[in-house]
Amino acid sequence: GEEQLRDGGLHRRRVVVLFSLPFHGHLNPTLKLAALLRARGLAVTVLHTDFNAPDPARHPGLAFVPIHETPLQDTAVSPDSDILAKLLALNAAIAAPFRQALASLQDAVACAVVDGQCYAAMDAAGELGVPVLALRTDSAAALRNMLAIPRLRDAGYLPFKGKQTKKEQLDEPAPGLEPLRVRDLIRVDGCDTDELCGFVTSVADAVRASVSGIVFNTFEAIEAPELAKIQRELSLPAFAVGPLHLLSQTPPPAEQSLHAPDRGCLAWLDARTPRSVLYVSLGSLACVNRAVFEEMAWGLAGSGVPFLWVVRPGMVTGGAAGEEAPPPLPDGLEEKMRGRGKIVTWAPQREVLAHDAIGAFWTHCGWNSILESICEGVPMLVQPCFADQMVNARYVTHEWGVGMEVGEVIERERVAKAVTKLMVGEDGAWMRERARRLQVQASAATSLALDSLVQYILSL
Ligand code: UDP
Repeated sequence: GEEQLRDGGLHRRRVVVLFSLPFHGHLNPTLKLAALLRARGLAVTVLHTDFNAPDPARHPGLAFVPIHETPLQDTAVSPDSDILAKLLALNAAIAAPFRQALASLQDAVACAVVDGQCYAAMDAAGELGVPVLALRTDSAAALRNMLAIPRLRDAGYLPFKGKQTKKEQLDEPAPGLEPLRVRDLIRVDGCDTDELCGFVTSVADAVRASVSGIVFNTFEAIEAPELAKIQRELSLPAFAVGPLHLLSQTPPPAEQSLHAPDRGCLAWLDARTPRSVLYVSLGSLACVNRAVFEEMAWGLAGSGVPFLWVVRPGMVTGGAAGEEAPPPLPDGLEEKMRGRGKIVTWAPQREVLAHDAIGAFWTHCGWNSILESICEGVPMLVQPCFADQMVNARYVTHEWGVGMEVGEVIERERVAKAVTKLMVGEDGAWMRERARRLQVQASAATSLALDSLVQYILSL
């Protein structure tokens, strides 16, 4: 290491290859980890798909190599297909080209840090004899839940029957995964349980066969017990290097963004009083049907609370507007909002959450959104839609006490009530206080785990 450091300041024969599936919520943390490793003297090459390719100009110091994946099936890109279909299609599309790209770099590669949902990349690296670390862009709790899915199926907890299950059963603790209840378990509505188990088994097999460690975008103060358990369960070292966006100190405007953010909403926020605005966003993937969309809209307008709402094109399913245009607002809504509501197609989320005017965040509970909210001390209204969002919502509301539910059924009156309770009620004030405490802990998260990750990479 020392000699190579003197040789131009870089561990030149120590290239770390990073690879992420082309989801917004995976690419961003991966690129932040890439920048952090680079800053510690490692040469970093980012392999990436042509689909949603990162912009190299935004990431000086990193090398980028496209893998030219086989053309993606519709399921991988369509907003209507579920996340499992997307994951399976992407794994299939990248397997051969990823392997080829990695093989061409192989001699120089110290280690590959690949997307922990990408069994195809873990397998390929393992077969080439390249040491592999899995980068999880979800929480340690979510990974524990995911690995337990086949066991939960065998015990009869899956397929999830939702409304057909008695409330008491849904409220039972999930065995081995407390504080999760049965209702909080990872699920993907409409997807086949066998297919889900097949995917999980592919990931688990790849981890067991090829992986030398797990890297998490999380931090000890919120997940210490979960991290300890997963290390024990997998007999692998786990590195909690998050919150990556905080440690990498990337100014938000320099961030990778798959959509152009509407920065005009920041000026709109400037004109609002502190903590008066509710920020509403369901992230980059989650969709709702027209009926839910309308209940959200009328509930927001009826609450009387100012709000900034991200309504993505394609976010409302079954609409006539198609995938390119944002869905039309319900008739008469603008009138009812009376200038209190601002709607954008994509927000500069980190800057929005950091803005004084924001009082709370109505979120789908994507892991990045939760970390970003915690890091700004913003309490949450949770509306988990699928997959690990259920798990994250449970931790937000019951483990960390920094948020509350919108309600199991999204209905305008209940929405308005929940919004008011969080924005102006006593419960909201208490949650804001808790959120501020977590913010302090997040900002105290150190790069010690990152240092040990670098040592570990150099030892492989
Ligand atoms: N995001 C954004 N603008 C928006 C909505 C989302 O910049 O209008 C960003 C957000 O800051 C986060 C990411 O998109 O970093 C969403 O990731 P998350 O894990 O929360 O959810 P996913 O999109 O993966 O479901």
